Amino acid sequence: MIIKPRVETEELIVLRYLNNRLKLSANELSYYLNLEKGFIGEISFDEWMKGVNQNWLILNDLLLENNNSIFQIDSLLFGLNKLLIFEIKNYEGDFYLEGERWYSSTNLEIKNPLHQLRKSESLLRSLLQKNGINLPIESYLIFVNPEFHLYNAIQNSPIIFPPQINRFMKKLNENTIPTTNKQINIAQKISSLHLNYSPFSRIPPYQYTDLQKGVFCKTCSSLTSQHNRNLLICQKCGEKETITSGILRTVAEFKTLFPTKQLETNIIHEWCKVIKSKKSIRRVLKENFTMVGHSGASHFL
Ligand SMILES: [Zn+2]
Repeated sequence: MIIKPRVETEELIVLRYLNNRLKLSANELSYYLNLEKGFIGEISFDEWMKGVNQNWLILNDLLLENNNSIFQIDSLLFGLNKLLIFEIKNYEGDFYLEGERWYSSTNLEIKNPLHQLRKSESLLRSLLQKNGINLPIESYLIFVNPEFHLYNAIQNSPIIFPPQINRFMKKLNENTIPTTNKQINIAQKISSLHLNYSPFSRIPPYQYTDLQKGVFCKTCSSLTSQHNRNLLICQKCGEKETITSGILRTVAEFKTLFPTKQLETNIIHEWCKVIKSKKSIRRVLKENFTMVGHSGASHFL
């Protein structure tokens, strides 16, 4: 049973919008693409989790604080009177171990993910104890990408490799003890400790004037153009979308990127760029938002 679902972070959403509308630096782009890749990995983990029975309570994407340290738990399972925490990695390609050191196929040393996992486990244990929750914790590092391989891996480490995931999930399904209300309360208590603001967020500064205007294709993120009165068409993949839907998606981007700016017909007309008629913009705003003020001075909530 999912107690806390996984949602895309504000950081990922903003970076995705900015990537269409701004030239990100090489570092920013690589950071953004890693976030996308990580999220895809988490989604594939969630797909496996759909096969796990309801006797497990699931909390995703927990951001917690203890002893002035902020730490993240990709997924936490609660059942059989214990907590399982998962660090999910979507690494691809050949990696190797030299003692405690981890290297990618290009011989670049990467952070040892087991250190991160152990640190999270210890911070979580102490945080929960402070909140009167004393439960054993098992932690796992799970690699979800079938194209991942780790040379020199040690047996009996808390690592789950792609070919082992099915067997691991089968084992979880041996849990036949239904959850109790007491357990649900504990899971909700843990969920309530989640922080909504991430200090790790790395969104570059941006300004309205610097961003490319237009409606971007919902399938391939290329610029669309107006096909006829009612339809937009993607210049790259040919995907068609109604003008109303295109405007609404683009307004949502505007509101996410500029939460304090007012929604006005003129600015949305400029922001969407490819919609020729200002009247269409005004109609869509009127139908979907509440108009405040009159004609020339109106805006929408
Ligand atoms: Zn497209």
